[in-house]
Amino acid sequence: MKNNLLKEFTKRYNKPATYSYFSPGRVNLIGEHIDYNGGLVMPCAITFGTYLLLAPNEDSVFRFQSLNFSDELSIPLKNNYEKDGEGWFNYPLGVIEHFLKDGHQLKGMDLLFYGDIPIGSGLSSSASIEVVTAFALNDIFNSGYSKLELVKLSKSVENNFIGVNSGIMDQFAVAFGEKNKALMLNCDTLEYKAVDSNLGNNVLAIINTNKPRKLAESKYNERVQECAKALELLQQELDIKNLCDIDTDTFNKYSNLIKDKIIYNRAKHVIEENDRVKLAAEALSQSNLDEFGKLMYASHASLRNLYEVSGVELDAVVDYCKTDANVSGARMTGAGFGGCAIALVKEEAFEEFSKGVAAYYTDKIGYAPSVYSSLIGDGVGVLAAFEDARM
Ligand code: ADP
Ligand code: MG
Repeated sequence: MKNNLLKEFTKRYNKPATYSYFSPGRVNLIGEHIDYNGGLVMPCAITFGTYLLLAPNEDSVFRFQSLNFSDELSIPLKNNYEKDGEGWFNYPLGVIEHFLKDGHQLKGMDLLFYGDIPIGSGLSSSASIEVVTAFALNDIFNSGYSKLELVKLSKSVENNFIGVNSGIMDQFAVAFGEKNKALMLNCDTLEYKAVDSNLGNNVLAIINTNKPRKLAESKYNERVQECAKALELLQQELDIKNLCDIDTDTFNKYSNLIKDKIIYNRAKHVIEENDRVKLAAEALSQSNLDEFGKLMYASHASLRNLYEVSGVELDAVVDYCKTDANVSGARMTGAGFGGCAIALVKEEAFEEFSKGVAAYYTDKIGYAPSVYSSLIGDGVGVLAAFEDARM
């Protein structure tokens, strides 16, 4: 594909690409639905993502094309831009707008994107396309942003230009990801630790349920409110700002303050999940993948039973994983109700796993999932394989 991409660029723009970059997608390994409770998440970059090829032009125009979408945009260099309909090119356009708003000078460019990551499935192709664009422009025009500033800029594009209300984890993971490292991150303070996460002879299987995530947003807001309620009740006796300011032991001492079973369950998930992230970091850094796998299963059970954000599709994947001896652990990842599950699978058994889980899922759900084999990859960067394509 990479070589085809170079050819495709030349074909579409009548000149070779001058620059090339890659930005990954991400999965959250563990720590789900706790970022808005002051908790720790643990995402990593995956080995699928978004390629971006560029070349400057002399006619002061930005041209956006993508191999994943047929619509394209050609727009003259201006001082500012507004969102242009619902097209995909609003992602790079929003990044350009942000650079201009910050007072940076840009010149006309021809851009070609290609994502080998499933788009719209919860693996954050949106953060990937934002970050790759921001990184590329910063590199080409020496705009002087730090990587963290590029992360914040990309998040702002998603929130304010595109209009999607999301946290900073995705852009952070996509930019700061490192091969064989998970990022234990507090999304409020942005303090993070890169945790050694050698998967040994395992791969990270990504199983896309292919179910649209229709319910996710309203249920998400409902959970945020339920957590706020739990916090308010605990604050009657505890001096805390977030649910994750306490651990499971403290929660057990004070949980009688929460009489409502549903609110209690939500808080229990949040606090126990935060403890699981710390245990997972310890297990991964000691290469104790069996322990990490158990924590993945425990996380899924909690999201299914206490937090109630799974669904028959994600449960079917995890149920199958439990029957397969080549799987150490599995869980839903992302907001839930659809999207993807992840599983730690012995590399040599991946093909067999892929067939097994697809057959089980299709039989149960009525349509097929998509199954991918990934590793923990690097964050955004110049695409080394394309270096010699530079003029
Ligand atoms: P997710 O981030 O889970 O993949 P989103 O709905 O947040 O899903 O973002 C998907 C959108 O991002 C796409 O509909 C498209 O507008 C844009 N996008 C992502 N990757 C590409 C790409 N390679 N080319 C063009 N647009 C892309
Ligand atoms: Mg997204």
